Amino acid sequence: MKYIICLACFFSVSAVAETEAELIAWARAIHERVLTVDTHVDIPANYGSDAYDPMKPGPRGQQVHIPTQIEGGLDATFLIVFVGQGPLTTAGYAKALADAMAKFAAIHRVTTLQYPDKLSLALSSGDARRIAAEGKKVVLIGIENGYPMGEHVELLDVFYDYGARYFGHTHIGHNQLGDSSIAEKRLNDPPSRHGGLSALGKKAVERANRLGMMNDVSHAGKQTTLDIIAASRPPAIASHSGAKGVFDHPRNMSDEEMTALAAKGGVMQVVAFDTYLRAVPKEKTAATQALWAEFGIKDFPDMAKLTPDQLKTYRARADEIELKWPKAGVRDLADHIDYAVKLIGIDHVGIASDFNGGGGITGWNSASETFNVTLELVKRGYGEEQIAKIWGANLLRVLDEVEDYAKRTKRRK
Ligand SMILES: [Zn+2]
Repeated sequence: MKYIICLACFFSVSAVAETEAELIAWARAIHERVLTVDTHVDIPANYGSDAYDPMKPGPRGQQVHIPTQIEGGLDATFLIVFVGQGPLTTAGYAKALADAMAKFAAIHRVTTLQYPDKLSLALSSGDARRIAAEGKKVVLIGIENGYPMGEHVELLDVFYDYGARYFGHTHIGHNQLGDSSIAEKRLNDPPSRHGGLSALGKKAVERANRLGMMNDVSHAGKQTTLDIIAASRPPAIASHSGAKGVFDHPRNMSDEEMTALAAKGGVMQVVAFDTYLRAVPKEKTAATQALWAEFGIKDFPDMAKLTPDQLKTYRARADEIELKWPKAGVRDLADHIDYAVKLIGIDHVGIASDFNGGGGITGWNSASETFNVTLELVKRGYGEEQIAKIWGANLLRVLDEVEDYAKRTKRRK
């Protein structure tokens, strides 16, 4: 089959690829040359233990390992220090902080003790580029949910020192920093707690700026998002979000949010999350909810609490549901990318998987399948320079700007 794709816009692709095999070879060459950065990969509490050895692909629920990254050509991952939202009390904050520090420790154990020859922690965009050039996998750290800092904004300095380079203020449920895109019924959340970013949240944005840590608006409510973008002096990011203009989901960004983010130079990392990409059949949602209730799962991290036998049964049942109603595919992901590129420009769009945190779609359900995303972008006419931007150059440019801002403000003191 000959690929004829809008000759005026995409002359290079149609000129190079006469056959599907040629198109794949062309896409593969691009995929190997560009630096691929996935800005959101969750890690369970057992990351770096025998139960989740990054060198040994284990249970199917684990979607990222060094061998699967090599197979799929995924160069860099932001591993996520995530703690679910709990009560805004001293005890709640203390537990959240302990959980967060355990995740930092797990990442450091893997990068410095277990596999320092295979991956390295990057503390700057320069580190990321250098480590990738050395042929090792790049690990960066992002924080999802500012809950663990409690009311101590100076704890951001500790997170930064442990390697965190982006700070997502909220998760599901309003917290001390701002309103979430989704109120948490379990915590008796009102529709809004602060009306956007709180005074403490504003201090956190400024502290992150001074440190050189990117502010992340994913999961934040609309007003919180706009407030973070406005308060942040250098650009902010959305580490894993979709576009409301393609599918109206509370976790997706409106045109107004996307435009505000890009106007200040930020980047939106489009996420491969099934339920954000397109409408899920109602019957599938009902079947999944019934399965979660049966196994006592309220959120994805709860899956780590299942025994191996329970997990096996759960997986078999989940497979039946998936077979009946397959997840969104790479084309759905690319529809959101296309939409974002048209609305806010090629310099402001990137990619995230949300692997191990509910992400993964048909065709990109593990790091080993990462090439399929590049192939779809090539089929849609994106050239190498554009793909390089989407796959990581845009995100690293923002990290550069955030680092530069921190250096400049330090010099002024
Ligand atoms: Zn998330």
